[in-house]
Amino acid sequence: MLDIASLSELLAQPQKIVITTHHKPDGDAMGSSLGLYNYLIQQGHHAKVITPTDYPQFLNWMPGNDEVIIYTENLDESARLIADADIIFCLDFNALNRINEMGVLVGESNAIKVMIDHHLEPQDFDDYRYWNINACATAQLVYTFITQELKHKELINKDVATCLYAGILTDSASFSLPNTTSAVHRIIADLIDAGAVNWYIYDEIYKNSTENRLRFLGICLSERLQILPEFNTAIIAVTHADLEKYDVITGDTEGIVNYALSIAGIKLAAFIVERNDRVKLSLRSKGEFPANDICKRYFSGGGHRNAAGGVSNEGLEATVNQFKLILPEYKKLLIQ
Ligand code: 5GP
Ligand code: MN
Repeated sequence: MLDIASLSELLAQPQKIVITTHHKPDGDAMGSSLGLYNYLIQQGHHAKVITPTDYPQFLNWMPGNDEVIIYTENLDESARLIADADIIFCLDFNALNRINEMGVLVGESNAIKVMIDHHLEPQDFDDYRYWNINACATAQLVYTFITQELKHKELINKDVATCLYAGILTDSASFSLPNTTSAVHRIIADLIDAGAVNWYIYDEIYKNSTENRLRFLGICLSERLQILPEFNTAIIAVTHADLEKYDVITGDTEGIVNYALSIAGIKLAAFIVERNDRVKLSLRSKGEFPANDICKRYFSGGGHRNAAGGVSNEGLEATVNQFKLILPEYKKLLIQ
C-alpha cells in the first residue's frame, strides 16, 4: 500500500492518469470522476475519464463531459490508455466486476491504482485507498481527498465544485438520506462559495426529462405498481415490451423507484426491470431497513443500506416472485 506522502509526490509531476467509475454511471459516479478530472488537469496531468458504459443524458452537461471516453464505444483507445497509465483512479466502486470487461484491463495494468469509494467490503486490487462507508457520496470523499489529503483547497474551482455538487446532490437523494450530515452541508456551502450554482445543477439533473420518460413514468405508476401492505413494500415491475413501447433509453428508469418509496408507510421499494440479457433490481428503503442485504444475499449485488441493486437471470415474473418470497424473512424489520 502506498502512503499519502508518496502519492502526493507522484502527483506533483504530470502523470498519465485514467479515472474510471462503475457500470451505468450515476450522478455520483460522473460527478466524482469529472470533479477529480477538473482538479487534475489544472496541474498539467494528462487525465482521461473512461466509463465502462454509456450514462444518462441528464448527466452529460458537466464540465469536462466532452472529453469522456465510453469504453464500449472506444475499445482500442480505452485499452491503450489503461495499459499506458501511470495512475488509475477507481471512483464510486470497489470491485473490478463493477466495471465489466474493463476490470480485466485495469487489473492487468501496471498503473498505481487509487480507490476512492463509499461502498461496503472493498476488494483488494488497489495500491492506495481512500474509503469511508459513512460518506454520503464518493464526490464528498473526492472533496476531502483534494482539500485535506492533498491540501489543495484553492484548486476547487467552479468546474470541480459543480461536478462534486452534482455527485453529492444525487447520491444523498437531494440531501434527504440519513448520511447527509452537517459536515456534508458545510462541504456543500464551500462548493457554492467556489462557484457551484445550486439551482442550475438541480435543473440540469431533475428538470431535464423527455416527454417519453414522463409518459413511461405514468405507466409505471398507474399500471405496474404493486403494493404489498402486509410488508410495507411496493414493487414496480417493467417488461422489456414496456421499455420498447416507450423508447426507454439509459437514464429514463432512474429515480422511478423513489416514487414507490414516497408512499406513506412504505419502507421498501423495488424497481424490477427486464433488460436484454438479465433482470435488474433497484431497491430503496427508508430508515434502518437494509436494502443492500437483500441484494447481496439473493441478487448478486450490493450497495448501501437505503439504495442498493442487483441482478437475476431468472426472468421477470420469476424474479418478482422470488422477491416476494424473500419478504417474510424481513417482515419484522418491515412492519416495525
Ligand atoms: P441503482 O439502484 O441506482 O442501480 O443502484 C443503487 C446502489 O446500489 C448504487 O450505490 C450502486 O452502486 C449499487 N448497485 C447497483 N447495482 C449493483 C450491483 O449489481 N452490484 C453491486 N455490488 N452494487 C450495485
Ligand atoms: Mn456513490
